[in-house]
Amino acid sequence: MIHTSFAIIWDMDGVLVDSAGLHYRAWRQTIQDELRRDMSEDDFNSTFGLRNSEMLRDYLGYELSEDAVNRLADRKEALYRDLIHTHGLTLLPGVLAWLKQAHTAGWRQAVASSAPRANVEAVVDAVAIRRYFSAMISAEDVHKGKPDPEVFLAAARKVDVTPGNCIVIEDAPFGILGARQAGMRCIGVLTTHPSLDADIVINCLEDIRFEYAADLVSKPRNATTLQLNSAHKGDI
Ligand SMILES: [Mg+2]
Repeated sequence: MIHTSFAIIWDMDGVLVDSAGLHYRAWRQTIQDELRRDMSEDDFNSTFGLRNSEMLRDYLGYELSEDAVNRLADRKEALYRDLIHTHGLTLLPGVLAWLKQAHTAGWRQAVASSAPRANVEAVVDAVAIRRYFSAMISAEDVHKGKPDPEVFLAAARKVDVTPGNCIVIEDAPFGILGARQAGMRCIGVLTTHPSLDADIVINCLEDIRFEYAADLVSKPRNATTLQLNSAHKGDI
């Protein structure tokens, strides 16, 4: 069956690719060079997924000027893209199969990321998946970061699918909150967080068949809350 009026809205970091290691390396190096401070992996993990300005203020615990935030963030992002080019990235398990199946079924697909556009483009090109997306929404396209629903609503508008017919795939609590506030169903992937409050929670996209996504958008809210573990792999 061809679904022309449904969409998958993909978060990027932690959903399409496991990029946390390279982000951490880029932040740690930048903060060491610029501020002579070390950044622990725990510090990094507690702020991962926030916009850069929020992340820096949250981590440093004091107000930074807009110029200082922009300088640090620009340096970190340039270093991050260098690391992508040097080390490459790999798609997370099950992602390519989902991208292909959704494409074959006629679903629209979009990226909705808090990252700058240059990063989104660097990532989708590094793993050669740009052709699957009819929209890519990045930090420059929205005023408010997740958990605000703006990025998801912008993606839905761009692919011309009503929010109720969109499924968001996310790995972060803020992203899931944003998806819910956008009126969208949400699949949570446990890449970067130990638990998530999504309609469906899985360890990776290999745990669930794409066809199940069609049921998710056609059932009443709260009817499909489901926690999968390895014992249920392949059941749905
Ligand atoms: Mg993410």
